[in-house]
Amino acid sequence: DEANAVGSDARRDASTDGQHPIVVVEGVNKHFGDLHVLKDINLTVGKGDVVVVLGPSGSGKSTLCRTINRLETFETGRILIDGQPLPEEGKALAKLRADVGMVFQSFNLFAHKTILQNVTLGPMKVRGIGKAEAERKATELLERVGVQQQRDKYPAQLSGGQQQRVAIARSLAMNPKVMLFDEPTSALDPEMINEVLDVMTSLAKEGMTMIVVTHEMGFARRAADRVVFMDEGEIVEQDTPEEFFTNARSPRAKDFLSKIL
Ligand code: ADP
Ligand code: MG
Repeated sequence: DEANAVGSDARRDASTDGQHPIVVVEGVNKHFGDLHVLKDINLTVGKGDVVVVLGPSGSGKSTLCRTINRLETFETGRILIDGQPLPEEGKALAKLRADVGMVFQSFNLFAHKTILQNVTLGPMKVRGIGKAEAERKATELLERVGVQQQRDKYPAQLSGGQQQRVAIARSLAMNPKVMLFDEPTSALDPEMINEVLDVMTSLAKEGMTMIVVTHEMGFARRAADRVVFMDEGEIVEQDTPEEFFTNARSPRAKDFLSKIL
């Protein structure tokens, strides 16, 4: 298993040395019954890119994230992660979920595992990493997100901001190729929002490839390479944050911005 883990890391390095993007979404359409929730979505995310997805409630932002992580299926188009199409099931799907880390609004930690166990479980099960190595890496990550001292506690004993930082560490422990964040601070008390955004900002600076759904415009301005604006299942506009916030072109984006700024 150790050998396998090394082998897959080597393959990953070889595959990301090439120029292909980490995430490619091409002509993706999805319905929920009669509702056309993703309309011909095209999105390319290069290595190290930070893409912030904005849009009104119900515009399809969460569905897009869930589709990229294959928590949802789609009808037409294709999605490639690091050049590979999304797997359907089994071990390949578990590996995809490890490669595409996801942090949700609700913290989704395992309630009956300690903080340390929450972070070591995935690498041991999915990546086949030994316990000592998994704990070493977990300790390093918990330190990085500032919750090392809570390692032997259970999630319910932590604040929301601490739990969300553990959730980020848990995803990072898998060595993801891309991290998806779906409104990671929306369920937090205001005083905890910044501690989570700070972790995300430093990840962005360190070159992590990220897709972030958020209403935190300050984060979008300072961390995003690109803003993607969605409305009614469509990507209406994609631009740099500077352009988007000062010079949005579409009436729908202007209307959205007038309500939040
Ligand atoms: P956002 O994250 O931008 O608020 P969502 O992706 O959650 O938007 O939802 C987009 C649309 O799809 C909404 O109209 C929502 O009600 C609908 N929707 C989301 N999930 C489901 C589901 N599982 N079944 C049916 N409709 C859904
Ligand atoms: Mg949502």
